[in-house]
Amino acid sequence: MLTSQTTEQRCPCGSEKPFAYCCEPYIEGQKPAPTAEQLMRSRYTAFALGAIDYLIDTTAPEKRDVIDRAIIAEQIQFTTWTGLTILDKEAGHKGDSKGVVEFEAKFETDEEHCILHERSNFYAKNGQWYYVDGEVDVRSAT
Ligand SMILES: [Zn+2]
Repeated sequence: MLTSQTTEQRCPCGSEKPFAYCCEPYIEGQKPAPTAEQLMRSRYTAFALGAIDYLIDTTAPEKRDVIDRAIIAEQIQFTTWTGLTILDKEAGHKGDSKGVVEFEAKFETDEEHCILHERSNFYAKNGQWYYVDGEVDVRSAT
């Protein structure tokens, strides 16, 4: 599944760390992301690499019924993610029960370059962070 990304390469999330020491252990299920920001970063990386199961597993269980696997698969197929910038954070540390992460993610399709801006809500349960929902705004960058 993740063969296009070798473990020595820099992580797609823009942390400057090798993939193996950043998002890979979370996406591969070796350990849970310790903070809301790290979960958010690993979900960005999962979008970039096409790790759909991880995206579903890290969505809050009560929100999973609105997820359409086919739509995510299509989005992943037609979208190239080209950069992530964290803009703001509230709580979301180890031991917190909630967190907010605001970010901008750049992506390209065949037709245009876009910037997705989102302020996302997360909560933690039993040491695992989950994505709940967010205020999303997409604008053209071309
Ligand atoms: Zn990463």
